Amino acid sequence: MEVKLIDYSIDPLNKLYAAFRTCYSSKTPIEIWEEITSGKIPREKIVSFIDERLKTGHASPLEQVVFWFAVSGISRSCSHQLVRHHIGISFEQQSQRYVRYKENQLEYIVPKTIKENKEVLEKYNELMKKITEFYKFALDRGIPPEDARFALPNATPTNFHILVNFRELQHIADLRLCTRAQWEIRWLIAKMRSEVMKVIPELGKFLQPKCGEYRLGYCDEDYKEYVKCPLSKVRPHKEDLFRIYNEVVSKSQISQKELRETKPLSEEEFKHIENIDYLGDSNQGY
Ligand SMILES: Cc1cc2nc3c(=O)[nH]c(=O)nc-3n(C[C@H](O)[C@H](O)[C@H](O)COP(=O)(O)OP(=O)(O)OC[C@H]3O[C@@H](n4cnc5c(N)ncnc54)[C@H](O)[C@@H]3O)c2cc1C
Repeated sequence: MEVKLIDYSIDPLNKLYAAFRTCYSSKTPIEIWEEITSGKIPREKIVSFIDERLKTGHASPLEQVVFWFAVSGISRSCSHQLVRHHIGISFEQQSQRYVRYKENQLEYIVPKTIKENKEVLEKYNELMKKITEFYKFALDRGIPPEDARFALPNATPTNFHILVNFRELQHIADLRLCTRAQWEIRWLIAKMRSEVMKVIPELGKFLQPKCGEYRLGYCDEDYKEYVKCPLSKVRPHKEDLFRIYNEVVSKSQISQKELRETKPLSEEEFKHIENIDYLGDSNQGY
């Protein structure tokens, strides 16, 4: 598998800064850009401002920064999972209609578990050889590649040219860097992350599995699976957090107004939601 970051938005930090500031400032975007380009705002200030904004749920400005990746040698089984992500990402994938594979030796991905089992590996290689022979046999008899490909396995390698915005890349990382994700797509996204880390670590650090400190912060997967995960040594599970919180609250001397035990939302709470006009919080959105 090869993954290369081909390009990304020029000055991504400035773009993010200006996008966020446009929402919160009385200045026009042109004035904000004049401040940025004149060097009036130090880079540290831009980075710390973005850090703060990324802690909030205001994620749409992240759509204004994009990355291009070139990916080759992933299996069709991995690519099938990848293309399920469809918001904020676009793909160009190598065609099996227009591209004839090397008929004498089709390439194929070998998972580690198969590689490590000699007996299974032998059978796997035999099967791939048979598929190769069939593919060539069919093409030699005038079957077009678009039909001969019906015999190709999930192990067939494929290539992509990908455009993805930062918001979607974060979302994909949430799901696919999780140790519950399948190994090949996990490797792929891990490689994409390390490519971003090389050029723009200020953003790359926000590409984490959802339990990461910059994301959800805790694991919300099945508890039994959580216990098996090596990251469980450093990240908490949602159930534990609530259990500990409720224990602390029940024993606490702190007034009930400040700390309250959690309970499921009842219809009574929905009546409050419907009836409350204003809680006195000035941060009411735009
Ligand atoms: C561990 C794991 C196991 C999986 N197992 C299976 C499986 O067994 N079978 C299977 O079919 N798939 C499976 N999937 C794929 C999964 O169901 C999603 O299709 C895939 O992860 C794409 O993610 P997404 O839906 O968040 O799409 P994205 O395109 O990445 O969407 C980004 C976000 O946009 C929003 N969004 C996207 N589409 C819509 C929409 N139509 N309406 C409203 N909001 C939308 C959502 O908030 C979504 O999170 C699995 C995924 C993972 C990570």
